[in-house]
Amino acid sequence: MRGTSSITKTQFNRPTEGIEIATNHPCTRCGNPAVIFQPYSGMHLCKQHLIDDITRKAKRDLRKYNIQPGTIAVALSGGKDSSALLHLLHKILAPSRKIKIVAITIDEGISGYRAKTVENASNLASNLEIPHTIITFEDAFGRTLDDLMEESDRPPCSVCGVLRKNLLNRTAKELGATHLAIGHNLDDEAQTILANHLRGDIRRLVRLSHARVQPGLVPRIKPLRHVPESEVLAYASAVGLQVCPKACPYVDAAYRLGIRIFLREFEDHHPGTRHGIMRGFDRMVGALGDAYPPASLVPCQVCGEPCTDGLCQACKMLGKC
Ligand SMILES: [Zn+2]
Ligand SMILES: [Zn+2]
Repeated sequence: MRGTSSITKTQFNRPTEGIEIATNHPCTRCGNPAVIFQPYSGMHLCKQHLIDDITRKAKRDLRKYNIQPGTIAVALSGGKDSSALLHLLHKILAPSRKIKIVAITIDEGISGYRAKTVENASNLASNLEIPHTIITFEDAFGRTLDDLMEESDRPPCSVCGVLRKNLLNRTAKELGATHLAIGHNLDDEAQTILANHLRGDIRRLVRLSHARVQPGLVPRIKPLRHVPESEVLAYASAVGLQVCPKACPYVDAAYRLGIRIFLREFEDHHPGTRHGIMRGFDRMVGALGDAYPPASLVPCQVCGEPCTDGLCQACKMLGKC
Protein backbone atom coordinates (compact mmCIF):
# COMPACT_ATOMS: atom_id res chain seq x y z
CA MET A 1 0.00 0.00 0.00
CA ARG A 2 1.39 3.35 -0.90
CA GLY A 3 1.84 6.18 1.58
CA THR A 4 -0.85 8.77 2.06
CA SER A 5 1.27 11.90 1.78
CA SER A 6 0.26 12.55 -1.81
CA ILE A 7 -3.43 11.82 -1.21
CA THR A 8 -5.71 14.78 -1.61
CA LYS A 9 -9.12 15.64 -0.26
CA THR A 10 -10.40 15.34 -3.81
CA GLN A 11 -9.49 11.67 -3.85
CA PHE A 12 -11.16 11.17 -0.49
CA ASN A 13 -14.40 12.63 -1.74
CA ARG A 14 -14.77 10.82 -5.02
CA PRO A 15 -17.07 7.91 -4.21
CA THR A 16 -17.60 7.02 -7.85
CA GLU A 17 -13.94 6.81 -8.77
CA GLY A 18 -13.11 3.53 -10.46
CA ILE A 19 -16.72 2.44 -10.46
CA GLU A 20 -18.82 2.44 -13.57
CA ILE A 21 -21.89 4.58 -13.00
CA ALA A 22 -23.68 5.02 -16.32
CA THR A 23 -23.46 2.06 -18.68
CA ASN A 24 -24.27 1.50 -22.32
CA HIS A 25 -25.80 -1.83 -21.43
CA PRO A 26 -29.43 -2.74 -21.01
CA CYS A 27 -30.67 -3.52 -17.49
CA THR A 28 -30.15 -7.22 -16.79
CA ARG A 29 -33.64 -7.42 -15.31
CA CYS A 30 -35.83 -5.45 -17.74
CA GLY A 31 -33.78 -4.34 -20.77
CA ASN A 32 -34.21 -0.58 -20.14
CA PRO A 33 -31.02 1.52 -20.21
CA ALA A 34 -28.85 0.71 -17.19
CA VAL A 35 -27.53 3.46 -14.91
CA ILE A 36 -25.10 1.35 -12.93
CA PHE A 37 -23.01 -1.78 -13.21
CA GLN A 38 -22.38 -3.97 -10.16
CA PRO A 39 -19.05 -5.68 -10.85
CA TYR A 40 -19.54 -7.90 -7.77
CA SER A 41 -22.84 -9.32 -9.06
CA GLY A 42 -22.27 -8.96 -12.82
CA MET A 43 -25.60 -7.10 -13.10
CA HIS A 44 -26.43 -3.93 -15.03
CA LEU A 45 -29.36 -2.12 -13.42
CA CYS A 46 -31.74 0.60 -14.58
CA LYS A 47 -32.89 3.31 -12.16
CA GLN A 48 -35.93 1.37 -10.99
CA HIS A 49 -34.11 -1.90 -10.53
CA LEU A 50 -31.30 -0.14 -8.67
CA ILE A 51 -33.91 1.34 -6.30
CA ASP A 52 -35.53 -2.09 -5.92
CA ASP A 53 -32.18 -3.76 -5.25
CA ILE A 54 -31.19 -1.26 -2.54
CA THR A 55 -34.65 -1.42 -0.97
CA ARG A 56 -34.44 -5.21 -0.82
CA LYS A 57 -31.00 -5.10 0.82
CA ALA A 58 -32.15 -2.53 3.38
CA LYS A 59 -35.26 -4.59 4.19
CA ARG A 60 -33.16 -7.71 4.65
CA ASP A 61 -30.91 -5.92 7.14
CA LEU A 62 -33.89 -4.36 8.93
CA ARG A 63 -35.37 -7.82 9.50
CA LYS A 64 -32.18 -8.86 11.30
CA TYR A 65 -32.63 -6.03 13.79
CA ASN A 66 -36.04 -7.38 14.83
CA ILE A 67 -37.56 -3.92 15.21
CA GLN A 68 -40.66 -3.71 17.38
CA PRO A 69 -43.35 -1.00 17.20
CA GLY A 70 -41.90 2.30 18.44
CA THR A 71 -39.76 5.20 17.27
CA ILE A 72 -36.67 5.04 15.08
CA ALA A 73 -34.41 8.10 15.14
CA VAL A 74 -32.40 8.67 11.97
CA ALA A 75 -29.10 10.53 12.21
CA LEU A 76 -29.52 12.97 9.33
CA SER A 77 -26.42 14.99 8.44
CA GLY A 78 -27.90 16.13 5.14
CA GLY A 79 -25.20 14.30 3.12
CA LYS A 80 -25.97 11.62 0.55
CA ASP A 81 -25.85 8.60 2.87
CA SER A 82 -28.10 9.84 5.64
CA SER A 83 -30.49 11.52 3.18
CA ALA A 84 -30.81 8.29 1.19
CA LEU A 85 -31.30 6.37 4.45
CA LEU A 86 -34.11 8.64 5.65
CA HIS A 87 -35.83 8.46 2.26
CA LEU A 88 -35.52 4.69 2.19
CA LEU A 89 -36.70 4.09 5.76
CA HIS A 90 -39.63 6.41 5.21
CA LYS A 91 -40.61 4.43 2.11
CA ILE A 92 -40.20 1.05 3.80
CA LEU A 93 -41.67 1.81 7.23
CA ALA A 94 -44.27 4.53 6.66
CA PRO A 95 -47.02 2.06 5.63
CA SER A 96 -46.66 0.10 8.91
CA ARG A 97 -47.91 3.00 11.12
CA LYS A 98 -46.55 1.12 14.11
CA ILE A 99 -43.13 2.61 13.62
CA LYS A 100 -42.59 6.35 13.84
CA ILE A 101 -39.54 7.94 12.21
CA VAL A 102 -37.87 11.07 13.56
CA ALA A 103 -34.72 12.77 12.23
CA ILE A 104 -31.87 14.25 14.26
CA THR A 105 -29.33 16.64 12.77
CA ILE A 106 -26.24 17.62 14.70
CA ASP A 107 -24.84 21.01 13.70
CA GLU A 108 -21.21 20.83 14.79
CA GLY A 109 -20.54 24.46 13.88
CA ILE A 110 -18.23 24.22 10.85
CA SER A 111 -18.23 27.55 9.09
CA GLY A 112 -18.67 27.59 5.32
CA TYR A 113 -19.83 23.97 5.23
CA ARG A 114 -22.53 22.92 7.66
CA ALA A 115 -25.23 25.50 6.89
CA LYS A 116 -25.90 24.03 3.44
CA THR A 117 -26.16 20.43 4.63
CA VAL A 118 -28.40 21.43 7.56
CA GLU A 119 -30.64 23.19 5.03
CA ASN A 120 -30.72 20.03 2.87
CA ALA A 121 -31.62 17.98 5.95
CA SER A 122 -34.44 20.35 6.92
CA ASN A 123 -35.87 20.38 3.40
CA LEU A 124 -35.86 16.61 3.16
CA ALA A 125 -37.45 16.08 6.58
CA SER A 126 -40.08 18.67 5.77
CA ASN A 127 -40.83 17.13 2.33
CA LEU A 128 -41.30 13.71 3.91
CA GLU A 129 -43.24 15.23 6.85
CA ILE A 130 -40.84 13.71 9.35
CA PRO A 131 -40.34 15.46 12.73
CA HIS A 132 -36.86 16.97 12.71
CA THR A 133 -34.68 17.98 15.67
CA ILE A 134 -31.56 20.09 15.10
CA ILE A 135 -29.05 20.29 17.94
CA THR A 136 -25.88 22.37 17.88
CA PHE A 137 -22.55 21.65 19.56
CA GLU A 138 -22.66 25.23 20.75
CA ASP A 139 -25.94 24.73 22.65
CA ALA A 140 -24.97 21.31 23.98
CA PHE A 141 -21.29 21.85 24.79
CA GLY A 142 -20.92 25.66 24.80
CA ARG A 143 -18.49 25.58 21.85
CA THR A 144 -18.60 24.94 18.11
CA LEU A 145 -16.27 22.43 16.47
CA ASP A 146 -14.41 25.41 14.97
CA ASP A 147 -13.90 26.78 18.54
CA LEU A 148 -12.77 23.38 19.81
CA MET A 149 -10.27 23.01 16.98
CA GLU A 150 -8.61 26.27 17.97
CA GLU A 151 -8.12 24.92 21.48
CA SER A 152 -7.25 21.29 20.75
CA ASP A 153 -4.51 19.52 18.82
CA ARG A 154 -6.47 16.27 18.60
CA PRO A 155 -7.56 15.13 15.12
CA PRO A 156 -10.83 16.94 14.28
CA CYS A 157 -12.63 13.76 13.15
CA SER A 158 -11.97 12.10 16.51
CA VAL A 159 -13.21 15.12 18.52
CA CYS A 160 -16.25 15.50 16.29
CA GLY A 161 -16.99 11.76 16.25
CA VAL A 162 -16.96 11.41 20.04
CA LEU A 163 -19.10 14.50 20.67
CA ARG A 164 -21.56 13.69 17.89
CA LYS A 165 -22.02 10.14 19.17
CA ASN A 166 -22.72 11.45 22.67
CA LEU A 167 -25.24 14.00 21.43
CA LEU A 168 -26.99 11.64 19.03
CA ASN A 169 -27.49 9.03 21.74
CA ARG A 170 -28.67 11.61 24.25
CA THR A 171 -31.11 13.16 21.79
CA ALA A 172 -32.41 9.80 20.54
CA LYS A 173 -33.21 8.87 24.16
CA GLU A 174 -34.97 12.18 24.77
CA LEU A 175 -37.11 11.51 21.70
CA GLY A 176 -38.02 8.07 23.06
CA ALA A 177 -36.32 6.21 20.20
CA THR A 178 -35.82 2.46 20.44
CA HIS A 179 -33.21 2.51 17.64
CA LEU A 180 -30.83 4.99 16.11
CA ALA A 181 -30.33 4.53 12.35
CA ILE A 182 -26.96 5.52 10.90
CA GLY A 183 -26.23 5.94 7.19
CA HIS A 184 -23.00 3.93 7.08
CA ASN A 185 -22.64 2.23 3.70
CA LEU A 186 -20.70 -0.88 2.65
CA ASP A 187 -17.52 1.09 1.99
CA ASP A 188 -17.63 2.76 5.44
CA GLU A 189 -18.20 -0.55 7.16
CA ALA A 190 -15.50 -2.44 5.25
CA GLN A 191 -13.02 0.39 5.94
CA THR A 192 -13.77 0.38 9.67
CA ILE A 193 -13.48 -3.40 9.93
CA LEU A 194 -10.23 -3.44 7.98
CA ALA A 195 -8.77 -0.58 10.05
CA ASN A 196 -9.40 -2.57 13.25
CA HIS A 197 -7.87 -5.69 11.68
CA LEU A 198 -4.78 -3.74 10.67
CA ARG A 199 -4.43 -2.41 14.22
CA GLY A 200 -5.02 -5.90 15.62
CA ASP A 201 -7.84 -4.53 17.75
CA ILE A 202 -10.10 -7.58 17.93
CA ARG A 203 -11.90 -6.42 21.07
CA ARG A 204 -12.97 -3.21 19.40
CA LEU A 205 -13.78 -5.09 16.22
CA VAL A 206 -16.13 -7.52 17.93
CA ARG A 207 -17.78 -4.66 19.80
CA LEU A 208 -18.69 -2.99 16.50
CA SER A 209 -21.35 -5.66 16.29
CA HIS A 210 -24.87 -4.32 16.42
CA ALA A 211 -26.28 -7.19 18.45
CA ARG A 212 -25.56 -5.77 21.90
CA VAL A 213 -28.23 -3.99 23.92
CA GLN A 214 -26.98 -1.99 26.89
CA PRO A 215 -28.65 0.31 29.39
CA GLY A 216 -28.56 3.96 28.37
CA LEU A 217 -27.34 3.17 24.87
CA VAL A 218 -29.86 3.39 22.03
CA PRO A 219 -29.04 0.43 19.73
CA ARG A 220 -27.65 1.55 16.38
CA ILE A 221 -28.90 0.09 13.13
CA LYS A 222 -27.24 0.40 9.74
CA PRO A 223 -29.67 -0.57 6.98
CA LEU A 224 -27.24 0.55 4.23
CA ARG A 225 -24.33 -1.57 5.45
CA HIS A 226 -24.55 -3.85 2.41
CA VAL A 227 -24.98 -1.07 -0.16
CA PRO A 228 -21.82 0.29 -1.84
CA GLU A 229 -21.22 4.02 -1.56
CA SER A 230 -21.50 4.54 -5.32
CA GLU A 231 -24.94 2.93 -5.30
CA VAL A 232 -26.12 5.08 -2.38
CA LEU A 233 -25.11 8.10 -4.44
CA ALA A 234 -26.91 6.69 -7.49
CA TYR A 235 -30.02 6.04 -5.34
CA ALA A 236 -29.95 9.63 -4.04
CA SER A 237 -29.78 10.88 -7.60
CA ALA A 238 -32.45 8.42 -8.86
CA VAL A 239 -35.02 9.57 -6.29
CA GLY A 240 -34.12 13.25 -6.74
CA LEU A 241 -32.43 14.01 -3.41
CA GLN A 242 -30.37 17.17 -3.11
CA VAL A 243 -26.79 16.24 -2.37
CA CYS A 244 -24.17 18.78 -1.39
CA PRO A 245 -20.93 17.85 -3.20
CA LYS A 246 -18.80 19.94 -0.85
CA ALA A 247 -16.60 18.00 1.55
CA CYS A 248 -16.16 18.66 5.24
CA PRO A 249 -13.12 20.98 5.51
CA TYR A 250 -11.77 18.94 8.42
CA VAL A 251 -11.45 15.70 6.44
CA ASP A 252 -7.83 14.79 7.01
CA ALA A 253 -7.69 11.31 8.46
CA ALA A 254 -4.68 9.98 6.55
CA TYR A 255 -4.90 6.46 7.95
CA ARG A 256 -8.54 6.08 7.03
CA LEU A 257 -7.93 7.66 3.65
CA GLY A 258 -5.14 5.19 2.89
CA ILE A 259 -7.49 2.29 3.66
CA ARG A 260 -10.19 3.82 1.51
CA ILE A 261 -7.91 4.09 -1.51
CA PHE A 262 -6.40 0.65 -0.95
CA LEU A 263 -9.85 -0.95 -0.70
CA ARG A 264 -11.12 0.85 -3.77
CA GLU A 265 -8.19 -0.30 -5.87
CA PHE A 266 -8.46 -3.84 -4.53
CA GLU A 267 -12.20 -3.91 -5.18
CA ASP A 268 -11.57 -2.78 -8.77
CA HIS A 269 -9.31 -5.77 -9.34
CA HIS A 270 -11.23 -8.22 -7.18
CA PRO A 271 -14.93 -7.36 -7.15
CA GLY A 272 -16.68 -8.56 -3.99
CA THR A 273 -13.80 -7.74 -1.63
CA ARG A 274 -15.92 -5.43 0.54
CA HIS A 275 -18.66 -8.05 0.81
CA GLY A 276 -16.01 -10.61 1.79
CA ILE A 277 -14.76 -8.36 4.58
CA MET A 278 -18.32 -7.99 5.87
CA ARG A 279 -19.03 -11.72 5.72
CA GLY A 280 -15.83 -12.47 7.59
CA PHE A 281 -16.73 -9.87 10.21
CA ASP A 282 -20.22 -11.27 10.76
CA ARG A 283 -18.82 -14.81 11.12
CA MET A 284 -16.11 -13.65 13.48
CA VAL A 285 -18.57 -11.78 15.68
CA GLY A 286 -20.72 -14.92 15.82
CA ALA A 287 -17.71 -17.02 16.86
CA LEU A 288 -16.00 -14.58 19.24
CA GLY A 289 -18.93 -12.66 20.71
CA ASP A 290 -18.79 -14.60 23.99
CA ALA A 291 -15.03 -14.12 24.32
CA TYR A 292 -15.43 -10.35 24.08
CA PRO A 293 -18.66 -9.48 25.89
CA PRO A 294 -19.84 -5.86 25.89
CA ALA A 295 -18.12 -3.66 28.49
CA SER A 296 -20.35 -2.99 31.51
CA LEU A 297 -21.46 0.60 31.43
CA VAL A 298 -22.18 3.20 34.13
CA PRO A 299 -23.64 6.69 33.72
CA CYS A 300 -21.13 9.52 33.21
CA GLN A 301 -20.95 11.64 36.38
CA VAL A 302 -21.08 14.82 34.30
CA CYS A 303 -23.53 14.22 31.45
CA GLY A 304 -25.21 10.93 32.39
CA GLU A 305 -24.32 9.19 29.14
CA PRO A 306 -23.19 5.56 29.44
CA CYS A 307 -19.44 5.01 29.76
CA THR A 308 -17.03 2.49 31.27
CA ASP A 309 -15.36 4.46 34.08
CA GLY A 310 -17.67 7.22 35.31
CA LEU A 311 -16.45 9.93 32.95
CA CYS A 312 -17.37 9.62 29.28
CA GLN A 313 -15.04 10.28 26.34
CA ALA A 314 -16.95 13.45 25.42
CA CYS A 315 -16.63 14.95 28.91
CA LYS A 316 -12.96 13.94 29.11
CA MET A 317 -12.37 15.61 25.77
CA LEU A 318 -14.27 18.76 26.69
CA GLY A 319 -12.32 18.98 29.92
CA LYS A 320 -9.05 18.88 28.01
CA CYS A 321 -10.02 21.13 25.14
ZN1 LIG B 1 -34.49 -2.60 -15.04
ZN1 LIG C 1 -20.14 12.71 29.96
